[in-house]
Amino acid sequence: MSVVTRFAPAPSGRLHVGNIRTALHNWLWARKNGGRFLLRIDDTDAERSREEFVDAIRDDLAWLGLDADGEERQSARFDRYEAAIERLIAAGRVYPAYETAQELDLKRKIQLGRGKPPVYDRAALALGEADRAALEAEGRRPHWRFKLDHDRPIEWTDLIRGPQHLDPALLSDPVVRREDGSWLYMLPSVVDDIEMGVTHVVRGEDHVTNTGLQLQIFEALGAPPPAFAHEALLVGAEGKLSKRLGSLGRPAMEEAGIEPEALVAKLARIGTSLPVEPLADPAPLIAGFDFATFGRAPARFDLDELAALNARVVHQLGFDRVRGRLPEGMGEADWIAIRPNLRTIADAADWWAILHGHVEASASEEDRGFLAEAAGTAAGLDWAESPWQRLTAALKASTGRSGKALFHPLRRALTGRDSGPEMAALLPLIGKDEALARLKAAAGA
Ligand code: GLU
Repeated sequence: MSVVTRFAPAPSGRLHVGNIRTALHNWLWARKNGGRFLLRIDDTDAERSREEFVDAIRDDLAWLGLDADGEERQSARFDRYEAAIERLIAAGRVYPAYETAQELDLKRKIQLGRGKPPVYDRAALALGEADRAALEAEGRRPHWRFKLDHDRPIEWTDLIRGPQHLDPALLSDPVVRREDGSWLYMLPSVVDDIEMGVTHVVRGEDHVTNTGLQLQIFEALGAPPPAFAHEALLVGAEGKLSKRLGSLGRPAMEEAGIEPEALVAKLARIGTSLPVEPLADPAPLIAGFDFATFGRAPARFDLDELAALNARVVHQLGFDRVRGRLPEGMGEADWIAIRPNLRTIADAADWWAILHGHVEASASEEDRGFLAEAAGTAAGLDWAESPWQRLTAALKASTGRSGKALFHPLRRALTGRDSGPEMAALLPLIGKDEALARLKAAAGA
């Protein structure tokens, strides 16, 4: 069996960490199995779907490195849904109903008032042809419901949640088409999953009940169902389903300097028993992906933890990956030298300014003589080979200083900072003339 997964966003907004995680898991599973990952745009709702969001979804997936093997749009497939509903109507599995939203609401209130579950009472099934004709003569148009089979429990083994049971008698026959002819999500999704050969549906656990309903639709259409994996939802750091997560997408990540590799590394493993690791390459994430590692508890998403992971990912990024975002003139050696000190790629500009801009001279009273001596020693050094090691070894021998007393005044004089990248890497980049000028300035400061 060749694996086919799909990510099926409605283009009514940007992607956010919750649905990015779903997209990623579908992609990882397809890649792990040498299968296909489809992007399915769920745009049956013409009013809420916007073309700009379709473009943004594509761009965001490309930014994340989640390449799709095909793209489908539900708005281009209405004839397929039409054909399916006609079959289901002919088989007596889809029926017209005429209640208005207010009437349905009233029924629910009465049921709840009596302590009963608010399940649709199927009154429409009792209508004869004459009743329907009378309702339509009144100007009513039907919406269409899928008739659930109440005789057997709905059962499946979820790849994450294990054995699942639902009692269909406790569920309302789902509306599959509105009176204006527009489609709800339920039926088109099944038709697409069948016709696109989807083998695994990976989505959030908010869809568990939908799966129960859809399993009966697969059966009614004579198709074997795919496997299902429902993942626990993401919650914010404070442990609650947070609105903020819904607005954390690529723009917020870019603003915080979070790289897509870091987001992918985090979202691939969060909520699983596998460790979240700073993996800049998805290969180990693909190889290790396994539904059996997914927990049932909500996964906590913490932006501070992501920022820490991001720093460790940035430390691994090669020059070619970042060059377009570095200050003008910054070369590979510069990047390699300062990379271990960065939290974000944008921070590189600060270190670039330290290497090549103006550094405020500073030294304490008792270090000035030492720095003057350092300037003299540095002037006589062959700069081509390990100037930092040579300079500090010579000064150690001549002044008897060691440890912090030796290194710290030099670092301050040469960079204006108390800490930062390895001086051995920085000093060659600062260059001999500039280093001498900085040591002299600090000696006289
Ligand atoms: N458009 C649906 C959603 O975003 C797709 C659900 C599914 O994966 O079937 O919730």
